Amino acid sequence: MPQTPSSVMRTYARQPVSFTRGDGARLWDDEGKEYLDGIAGIAVTSLGHCHPEVARVVAEQAGTLMHTSNVFRIAWQEQLGERLCAVANMEKAFFCNSGAEANEAALKIARLHGHGKGVSLPQIMVMDNAFHGRTLATLSATDNPSKKVGFDPLMPGFVRVPYDDIAAVKEAARHTPGIVAVLIEPVQGEGGIRMASANYLKALRAICDEQGWLLMLDEIQCGMGRTGAWFAHQHAGIVPDVMTVAKALGNGFPIGACLARGVAADLFSPGLHGTTFGGNPLACHVGYTVLEVMAREKMPQRAAALGQRLLAGLQEALSAHPNVVAIRGAGLMLGIEMNCPCADLVGRALHEQRLLITVTRDTIIRLLPAMVCTEAQIDDIVARIARLLFSRPPEQSAAASIPI
Ligand SMILES: *Cc1c(COP(=O)(O)O)cnc(C)c1O
Repeated sequence: MPQTPSSVMRTYARQPVSFTRGDGARLWDDEGKEYLDGIAGIAVTSLGHCHPEVARVVAEQAGTLMHTSNVFRIAWQEQLGERLCAVANMEKAFFCNSGAEANEAALKIARLHGHGKGVSLPQIMVMDNAFHGRTLATLSATDNPSKKVGFDPLMPGFVRVPYDDIAAVKEAARHTPGIVAVLIEPVQGEGGIRMASANYLKALRAICDEQGWLLMLDEIQCGMGRTGAWFAHQHAGIVPDVMTVAKALGNGFPIGACLARGVAADLFSPGLHGTTFGGNPLACHVGYTVLEVMAREKMPQRAAALGQRLLAGLQEALSAHPNVVAIRGAGLMLGIEMNCPCADLVGRALHEQRLLITVTRDTIIRLLPAMVCTEAQIDDIVARIARLLFSRPPEQSAAASIPI
């Protein structure tokens, strides 16, 4: 199979493998070969491929009603909003179709908040190594030169500070006029599985309260149970003003949401924001079902337990490896940091070990397995990673990592 399909724009360095069927954490390619999925479509299919209840709801709702338009009330949208806000401690939801769109809504809410306070050029604080999406505004909020080069002029209105560094936030508060909000991932995924400490998040919450800034959390990758709590910030015992979710919310069906509480929940009024497809009955019934299954099966707790097993297994199996610098993460969001570029491991894992992994920031192997994995499958991921890393060292080329 050729590496570059001729009919599709070259937005991804694609592996020459195409899957035709999936079941839980297993995938089969078009030659019938079976693979173990260690990334779940990059934190999307957390309930596994083709979860029977999700698949049934997709089919049933498609045969009942798919789309009407947001100029009418949509019962499934309201029910999903209620259910999602209940697990997230939020008040209102705006539904859209992707993570970037959810962040766009958050950025617009921040700007409205600023203008409401009489700030004519509002600034939003963002972090080193952040990833917030590929639209022009979210790309501007992102901090990854390889994703930004060629797209100037980017959007103004962002102030960047080091991640997990409260002194830097205080410094910016003193010296940068017009800050109205902070946008931050509690766990940076694309940025290399970096975690903000609980103390930092608490202090950030306090500064936002003091300054009248909105605390806006991007939980698109780390939310929906993945780190062992419904949302990663809940480990720190804080509540944000705005939170964005997407990826696992539809288990593969496209849906995103921007959630808000307090003043932030009431800033949009008719005409200020909108979407044609967002919040349609099909996507929302699917999202509702995903939440229901996750709650019933206690998926956040399961992610915590499986995550501990995966982390302990990797630590034991890789402790003697000369290229492994650190293994870190929360729940089923884990990174293995290498002391050399290792993007070639993605293709080698696929072909030599029949295992799906990603490499981010050139040196960090990222694992995001489905929460429905069995313990045996978690152990199998550890065994395949160990075989991969011990069979021969990485090629040290910064080539084709799979970007989000
Ligand atoms: C994936 C991701 C996004 C972008 O989501 P899309 O659905 O690809 O637009 C934004 N923020 C974070 C933290 C992500 O992981």
